[in-house]
Amino acid sequence: MTASILIIYTGGTIGMKEDPLDGTLKPFDFSQIMEEVPELNKFDVHIDSHTFDPLIDSSDVEPALWVSLAELIRDRYEDYDGFVVLHGTDTMAYSASTLSFMLEGLTKPVVFTGSQLPIGVPRTDGKENLISAVEIAAAKDEKGHARVPEVCICFDSLLLRGNRSTKYSAEAFNAFASPNCPPLAEAGINIRYNTDLIRRPIYWDALLHVQTHLDTRVSILKIHPGMTPTVARLFLCAPDIRACIIETYGSGNALSKPWFLDILHEADRMGKIMLNVTQCKSGTVNMSLYATGATLKQAGVLSGNDITTEAALGKLFCLMGRSDNNQWVKTMLEKDLCGEITK
Ligand code: ASP
Repeated sequence: MTASILIIYTGGTIGMKEDPLDGTLKPFDFSQIMEEVPELNKFDVHIDSHTFDPLIDSSDVEPALWVSLAELIRDRYEDYDGFVVLHGTDTMAYSASTLSFMLEGLTKPVVFTGSQLPIGVPRTDGKENLISAVEIAAAKDEKGHARVPEVCICFDSLLLRGNRSTKYSAEAFNAFASPNCPPLAEAGINIRYNTDLIRRPIYWDALLHVQTHLDTRVSILKIHPGMTPTVARLFLCAPDIRACIIETYGSGNALSKPWFLDILHEADRMGKIMLNVTQCKSGTVNMSLYATGATLKQAGVLSGNDITTEAALGKLFCLMGRSDNNQWVKTMLEKDLCGEITK
């Protein structure tokens, strides 16, 4: 049976064209994208599209767009076998991560893609990325189930789990990596699926539940030499902050100066949620390895394990949106909800 795919166009370089007036890249409309990729007509796939208005450079992405995106997928869920989201690369890992937590009970592929060069220019990577994304979103196994019922990113021949991905290069075509999780598929002459790694729903007839309330009261404190108490206190203890992602060194270490530990204890007493995420691109937080990590644990900081900052942010937005109970949020943070940490 012919698969049906909805392509959702949000903006990004893939659909941009040079404005002759000032030379900057501005979005153009979806029909022009399709004109550039006539190869899509050769697939046995029915394609519809939905264009967001306004189209954005993804640096302007806001949680409200994630809610609109998730609601659109929910409202059109029964009509399609899979969804392809055209999105700018700058915040694609944030969007894919957050959507993975928002779309509970997903049984269909939601494949994000974009490009480093606009689709109309010579040597563009946009065509290949779009074609592979559509093929993957339409792919079924022998039983007729989606091959990849996950939120993922398809870029430069790799299919990566969305909530494990990070934008890794500002220039290279292989712009995304998921250092703590092997690719879910690789596109060569054929698309090779890493079937053992791909998550499957417990029930294929599960109903999709969309978490539309996001609580965004999260700060990200990147530990660095020379950080001042004023900055640390602002990120950890400000009244409108409910959770702080602390980006630490190596395996979860931070300075052991008494002033910093005092601020952590103060934040803990205020009931703030503190999550330790490593600044390293690969590897995991282990707060039992060094004394500097162990003191964070004593101050109430939770281990993020090998989660990315992008996924930590999306997970916190969703969990905090679901409950006002910080203790419950802390318990859930330590669990692997949709493949975002290695357990
Ligand atoms: N600034 C662009 C965006 O994220 C970059 C891109 O798409 O590659 O929308």
